[in-house]
Formats: sequence, structure tokens, C-alpha cells
Amino acid sequence: MVVTRFAPSPNGHLHLGHAFSAIVAHDLAQARGGQFLLRVEDIDGVRSRPELATEFRADLAWLGLEWEEVAPQSARLDSYEAAAGQLRGTGLLYRCVCTRAEIAAAATETGPDGPIYPGTCRGRRVDLDEPAAWRLDMAEATALAGPLEWLDELAGPQRATPGVFGDVVLMRKDAPASYHLAATLDDAADGVTLVSRGIDLFAASHVHRLLQALLGLPVPTWRHHPLLVEADGRKLAKRRGSPGLAELRLAGGDGCTLAQTLREGRFPAGLRLSDGLQPRP
Ligand SMILES: [Zn+2]
Repeated sequence: MVVTRFAPSPNGHLHLGHAFSAIVAHDLAQARGGQFLLRVEDIDGVRSRPELATEFRADLAWLGLEWEEVAPQSARLDSYEAAAGQLRGTGLLYRCVCTRAEIAAAATETGPDGPIYPGTCRGRRVDLDEPAAWRLDMAEATALAGPLEWLDELAGPQRATPGVFGDVVLMRKDAPASYHLAATLDDAADGVTLVSRGIDLFAASHVHRLLQALLGLPVPTWRHHPLLVEADGRKLAKRRGSPGLAELRLAGGDGCTLAQTLREGRFPAGLRLSDGLQPRP
């Protein structure tokens, strides 16, 4: 059975781009007789606002969507720690105490997430009392995993190239786990078979495929859809006048009609879908 999910973070209101993404995932599951899940990605304790998760449910119901909600990330911290422990046991993780500014100053290359970590702490002894992130030794990890492939329903077969990220953080200094580790584990735990999400996360799937191999997790199929963007190609943002779903809902708008117009590609004035797919590696 096909299982898709929508996994918003409760640190801001949902906007039309989120609505589009949720509708795509919902409709894929519905068309294939599958299941559509809602997962609240509230791992970012400081920035997470629980009342927004309540708002998200009201927004999705207003759009006419039906879903099954699975456990939020805040209830899954043990699974992140267990997976990190498994990887530490294989010697693939190391502690990193560098600040963002230090990394930016030392980096010579840029990857999909910004400056590539130059490996400053690899092989360095870090005091256990010092707050540290855990990074994946990418060269060791890719050598251990061997060549990997994954399938995007829109872009076709992909050869995994997680090395473009460098030594990614799996356990953050300021939060229990990084997006890469948490999302990969959650999708496996939730039985997600089709990861439907925005094209901006295409490159992240290289890392997720590697983590699946290292942790012995099932491998889903992916489907990275174009994003709903401003006419000039920029992402939607409230500060540029893109309304929140809650705002539209509370103003008395008709959510089911809105959902139907998004499905049919009749976007509000000034909005369009982002151009094409990323080239194959
Ligand atoms: Zn470091």
C-alpha cells in the first residue's frame, strides 16, 4: 500500500506552498488507494509552538483533506539516540564543537546546505563536557555503504551522491537530531513508501538514502514536486505578502475551492510553479 506524508514544522504558519505540498501528497495516496499521514516535526524545541500544530490540523481540514496523524518528533527522541548509538558503534560519527561562524570562515566549498564542513574536528579529541554535534564521516560512510541508487518518480533513477554535503550533522548541538536523521528514521517508522515533498529537498535524499543503507532501513520511492513560488522564483513568504492558510480560513474563505484551484494549477495571481527538476548527477 502506498503511504505518503505531510510533515510541517510548527515554527511558522502554513501558507499556500504548504497547502500545495499537502494536497499533492494527499492526492497521490488517495489515487492509489493508500494512506496519507500527518507528522508534526517539532524537534526544534526552542522554536516549536504547540498551538501551531493545532492550527495546522484546522488548516488541513479546511482544505478538505483527510489524514491519519502519527507521533510528533518530540515523542521519538529515543529512536534518534538509538540510531546515533548504532552509528557511533561503527565508528562513523565524530564530535564537532565548531560554531557556524568558524565553519563559514574555514570552509572552501559550498554544498546544498551552505558551506561544506572542512572536517576540523575529525580525528580531534573533544572534551566530553563540551556541547558538541555529532557528524557523519562521509568518506568512511560512503565507502562502507558502496554505490547506492534511489528512484524519483518524476526525475527517474538517481545515483546517490551524499558526498556533496560533506560531513553532515546527525545529532545537533542545540536539538536532539538533525533533519536528515530524524526525517529518515520517522519515514521508516511510519511505513512511508512514497516520500512526496518539494524539489528544494531533492539533494537531501542522497543523504537519506545513505542513512537507510547504514541503518538497515527500508528504501521508499521519492517524488520531488515543483514548489509554488513567487513570479520571480522566490519562495513564498509572509513578509512578501503571501497570506497564511489560517488567515484565509479565519477570513471566511472556502478551503475546498482553494484546494481545487491548486490541484488544477489555477494559482492565485503572482504565483507559479518553480522551473523544472534538478539535473541528474
Ligand atoms: Zn568541528
